[in-house]
Amino acid sequence: MPGRRHEIPERRAVLQKNFYFLARRFVAGETIGSAIEAVRALNAAGMSATLDFLGEDVFERDAAIRTRDVYLEMLDSIRAGGIDSNVSVKLTAIGLRIDENLAYDNLKSIMDHAAANADPFVRIDMEGSAVLEATLRVFDRAFAASKNVGPVLQAYLKRTAADVDRAIAIGARVRLCKGAYNEPPDIAYKDMPDIRVNYLKLAHKLLEQGVYPGIATHDRRLIAAIKQFVAERHIANDRFEFQMLYGCRPRVQREIVAQGYRLRIYVPFGTHWAGYFYRRVLERRENALFALSSIFSR
Ligand SMILES: Cc1cc2nc3c(=O)[nH]c(=O)nc-3n(C[C@H](O)[C@H](O)[C@H](O)COP(=O)(O)OP(=O)(O)OC[C@H]3O[C@@H](n4cnc5c(N)ncnc54)[C@H](O)[C@@H]3O)c2cc1C
Repeated sequence: MPGRRHEIPERRAVLQKNFYFLARRFVAGETIGSAIEAVRALNAAGMSATLDFLGEDVFERDAAIRTRDVYLEMLDSIRAGGIDSNVSVKLTAIGLRIDENLAYDNLKSIMDHAAANADPFVRIDMEGSAVLEATLRVFDRAFAASKNVGPVLQAYLKRTAADVDRAIAIGARVRLCKGAYNEPPDIAYKDMPDIRVNYLKLAHKLLEQGVYPGIATHDRRLIAAIKQFVAERHIANDRFEFQMLYGCRPRVQREIVAQGYRLRIYVPFGTHWAGYFYRRVLERRENALFALSSIFSR
């Protein structure tokens, strides 16, 4: 039901409530209703969206089912509200750490429900490397059932070149990002220049051979290089989309739309914003400053 608050244990709720003012730049409210309104505003500015119900690492079956049900509600609200949005889901929020089959069943319910929407696509967010293999296994099963599902691949991982080749071979829609988790150097590039080089290499391949890739980054250098590449190769603007996070670099977001590119905004909502917010702050000093500046502009 739009407008309903999704409850969390009391002590954590108090903590989260008191610090929410810090995160609110990056989170579109606590309810489905507030997220739908945020998407409506983005749509009016020429951007599409993907909605994410915040939460991860669920260890109780009931909680995983509740999260699935929120996704079903979200999909109904997207349809009823006539907004341009699909959904993104973290498999550990719908049971991956409990039982892979549970995560698959929940994902399949979400996909079946999404099939009735104007945009039936379901994006599987990628989490830490500990759950990467399981995430891709669940993706494979889901993709065998419907093509309206796609993984996120992370350019900081050394294995991702092979995962990109495989996604291209099976025709899966990939979102490419740098990666947001702290991974060890034996499996991940740790220096930003190396990550950028790998990102561009993988993005070029996806743009030339992949199916409608999502180029997810706020990195001006990468964005400029991608624009140059698609112009040189005559890759039409409807063959891919840029993707950015809600509240991150709004000026760049508007610029991209004004230049005629497609842009999808990742819109997270809900009360479990802490993990998401910490990742944004840890990766960029600017994000912490933005959050703090909101204290003075309240
Ligand atoms: C749509 C989307 C979905 C994502 N999904 C996933 C996922 O499923 N799994 C995952 O691991 N990660 C995901 N990420 C996060 C991603 O992996 C990166 O951690 C994150 O995007 C930061 O890297 P970046 O390429 O955007 O640029 P950064 O390296 O953060 O920044 C590059 C440049 O942008 C500037 N900048 C960045 N943010 C701001 C800001 N708020 N204001 C001003 N300047 C700023 C910096 O100054 C820097 O020069 C996603 C990101 C996006 C955009």
